[in-house]
Amino acid sequence: MASVGINDVRKSFGSVEVIHGVNISIADGEFVVLVGPSGCGKSTLLRMIAGLEQISGGEILIGDRVVNLVPPKERDIAMVFQNYALYPHMTVYDNMAFSLKLANAPKEEIAKRVKEAADILGLGALVERYPRQLSGGQRQRVAMGRAIVRKPQVFLFDEPLSNLDAKLRVQMRTEIKALHQRLKTTAVYVTHDQIEAMTMADRIVVMHDGIVEQIGSPLELYDNPANMFVAGFIGSPAMNFIEGRVSRANGAPSIVAKDGIELPAPASLQASDGHKVVYGVRPEHISLHNGGGVGVPAEVSVIEPTGAYTLAFVKMADAEVCAMFDERHAFRPGETIHLFPRTDLVHVFDADTGRRL
Ligand code: ADP
Ligand code: MG
Repeated sequence: MASVGINDVRKSFGSVEVIHGVNISIADGEFVVLVGPSGCGKSTLLRMIAGLEQISGGEILIGDRVVNLVPPKERDIAMVFQNYALYPHMTVYDNMAFSLKLANAPKEEIAKRVKEAADILGLGALVERYPRQLSGGQRQRVAMGRAIVRKPQVFLFDEPLSNLDAKLRVQMRTEIKALHQRLKTTAVYVTHDQIEAMTMADRIVVMHDGIVEQIGSPLELYDNPANMFVAGFIGSPAMNFIEGRVSRANGAPSIVAKDGIELPAPASLQASDGHKVVYGVRPEHISLHNGGGVGVPAEVSVIEPTGAYTLAFVKMADAEVCAMFDERHAFRPGETIHLFPRTDLVHVFDADTGRRL
């Protein structure tokens, strides 16, 4: 196992820079997830760690060693891809044994490691099969087995679950997390799926257009997003944003939306009277009752009952807003209801910079 250091790393393809100076420090044994929209540079960064892509600036370390110029096979890493990349003409056993055979490992050692990996992954009964005789989930397990047998310093995963159906994805992410808890090998995992990031990561790196927006534990990012991008990306359904200006007319700060509706703001808000802001409130932090007051009027557009909770899409303070209730409600479209944002849990962002105030 080893730490991974990414110091001011840049990458250009021709004259176009796509990674603009990224810094990430990954501890030995940590499970770090790189998450961000498609095209933000996740795969490029992972491929630079793997050595499959030259870096244009900065430094990458695995353990204490700068690996900028070290070829991939000498970096002691193992990579698992979205498309499995299994050899179709080889059995599960031979797929898993392949890299060890290439490295001239003794036959008994190969057999021992493949058996260990197959047992961990529940592939014991399938080792004589060919990839075409396996389900998608089983193929992905073989791809992981092939990585495990090498006992690498670092596992690199690039969207390994994207080709699986929704149910299997949920099952496999739990398996990968359990696997990491058992092996404790440093892992860098790329996904565009924020739920996958939230559920699997020790720490999440949120990327956007080739920069790092924020690094933190899943709940740090959820509770204290640094800016509107992170606030809108982490959490599902996404945070609601409502434009407005700070008002201190009544002593305590509030946000006055474009249509004049007043939204309760945290008492600790520093911004001055008239400051242009964006009010952010998560669907799960809006309730129908708080025991007093009149609430913010909202016109119901659509109700989505899921059984476990109810989603209400409403028009509130001149914005489309989603509210999530634990209870069941049978509101009618067009009906006006009154909503209470949890003042202690709302966020206020600077309208120009997007930074949280
Ligand atoms: P992600 O994995 O986050 O979806 P990528 O790392 O694949 O994003 O791509 C980041 C950016 O770099 C994109 O704009 C993509 O078009 C560009 N890019 C990736 N690979 C190449 C390449 N080989 N040549 C030119 N541009 C590339
Ligand atoms: Mg990618």
